[in-house]
Amino acid sequence: MIAVLKQGTSQEQIEHLTSWLETQGIGVHICEGHFQTIVGLLGDTSRVDEELLSGLDMVESVKRISEPFKSANRKFHPDDSIIEIPAPDGTCVKVGGGNFVAIAGPCSVESEAQILEVARAVKASGANLLRGGAFKPRTSPYDFQGLKADGIALLLEAKKETGLPIVTEIMSADHLPLFEEVDVIQVGARNMQNFELLKELGKTRKPILLKRGLANTMKEFLMSAEYIMAGGNENIILCERGVRTFETYTRNTLDLAAVPMLHELTHLPIIVDPSHATGISRLVRPMACAAAACNADGIMIEVHNDPKKALCDGPQSLTPAQFDDVMKAVLRVREAVL
Ligand code: PEP
Ligand code: MN
Repeated sequence: MIAVLKQGTSQEQIEHLTSWLETQGIGVHICEGHFQTIVGLLGDTSRVDEELLSGLDMVESVKRISEPFKSANRKFHPDDSIIEIPAPDGTCVKVGGGNFVAIAGPCSVESEAQILEVARAVKASGANLLRGGAFKPRTSPYDFQGLKADGIALLLEAKKETGLPIVTEIMSADHLPLFEEVDVIQVGARNMQNFELLKELGKTRKPILLKRGLANTMKEFLMSAEYIMAGGNENIILCERGVRTFETYTRNTLDLAAVPMLHELTHLPIIVDPSHATGISRLVRPMACAAAACNADGIMIEVHNDPKKALCDGPQSLTPAQFDDVMKAVLRVREAVL
């Protein structure tokens, strides 16, 4: 990181800045030009508050040379991370490092009959993990909020019957005791920057499916992963689910370029959710194929036994038959591009 100081900064001010940085464990290299002085910050600058530094009277500008994310950074961990999710039969579902995962299930768990029917169907089509929301982050407080603990119990029943490990969203760290038997904890887009929740999840060793925030940059996305990793939990799967733009025909704008870009920046696996990214069921197939084509480590797709009657996200949900067709297409694309 370098800080360019304003013209006329006194020697005394520079010494003051130097000792302030040194107390933070940062080494300092001063480069004095004819008109301006540049301060090079050496060592682990990930803890330096860039905005605080930029805000100092004597500082004209600050530029980060190395990224602020360390644990998630591919520079320090060149090999792909492979996240292992134990399945009831003693095997493991692997995500990353060439292992492709298909996560499927309804937006919300609605009833025993619904989740069992969908679970059986998506398993038959080749899904590796079953998803289903029990705690739902709805825009309106009057909309269906999920079956909560009962929803998790129904997912566990579906897991027992099908052998599929389950993925479900957490909205508050207070609910963590209910997630003991959940295999992958999802952090939804609306909670990507709920830092207290991320810190609590960092204390667990559960695989976390971290979705990109509604309008967050890739750097912010990686910094949220970093929050979890800083606590010691390195089991993170990133999920690109579209970001909010000026476009209104689609629910969000799927940022597929994020997949190869994040693969360069981080060793963590990256999957794509074409359901929330588009909001339209007929767009799910082309976008799922596109995700496979750009080497995503998996897809997450909403599937409902009767989308027209779904309590949440029906318009973007596939029928089991449509999901079956998408799976076949995605696997063909993967073979073609591998
Ligand atoms: C979901 O996966 O059901 C969900 C709410 O997604 P997102 O957080 O991406 O909106
Ligand atoms: Mn949904």
